[in-house]
Amino acid sequence: MDGTLLVGRTIYVLAGEVGFEEQLHEVMTSDMQKYEKTREIAWLLKGLSVERLLEIFDAIPLRTGAQKTIATVKKAGMITAIATDSYQLAADRLAKRLGIDRAFANELDIKDGKVTGKTKLNNQKLEPRMPGCKIHSICKRDILHNLCDELGVTLAKSVVVGDGNIDRCMIEDAGLGIAFEAQAELNEVADIVVKGDLSKILEHIL
Ligand SMILES: [Zn+2]
Repeated sequence: MDGTLLVGRTIYVLAGEVGFEEQLHEVMTSDMQKYEKTREIAWLLKGLSVERLLEIFDAIPLRTGAQKTIATVKKAGMITAIATDSYQLAADRLAKRLGIDRAFANELDIKDGKVTGKTKLNNQKLEPRMPGCKIHSICKRDILHNLCDELGVTLAKSVVVGDGNIDRCMIEDAGLGIAFEAQAELNEVADIVVKGDLSKILEHIL
């Protein structure tokens, strides 16, 4: 979602608007595990109303070609999904806006319309002491496998798009793994590298 469907990253935009950029930088540059950072960052949102959060989220611009890409693959009969280490309420919001079928993310605890700071991580199989991808708050490989199982779709027919290290595991396993405006290390494991307009991926899919 962040960086692929949206320009920029939701948490940085929230930090700028709400005013916790310094604290965010501190967490991001700390030596905490990735999933611990996700938990810590949610505390920075404590007290923020859902209304304001979504107002800020809605103003984040879409990537060029995002709407066209989703509309076109849906027309072709594909099922679409968001998997993100951002928040479920944001992912659901964007999914609804773009007509995306499913969304998987971390759950922010909400009470009386406000963020409490607690989170429920999507990844229920954290392996903090193991090397590999299970240190992320969401394992996109697991999401991909589970969704393919549920839908009765072979992995070979799956297409994924990502831009960061967290996307590596799903890009490795998908039938077609696309790195979009991605970090260099992701480009190396992806089947295809795309930059600029997201709808450029369509010529590789359809
Ligand atoms: Zn993973």
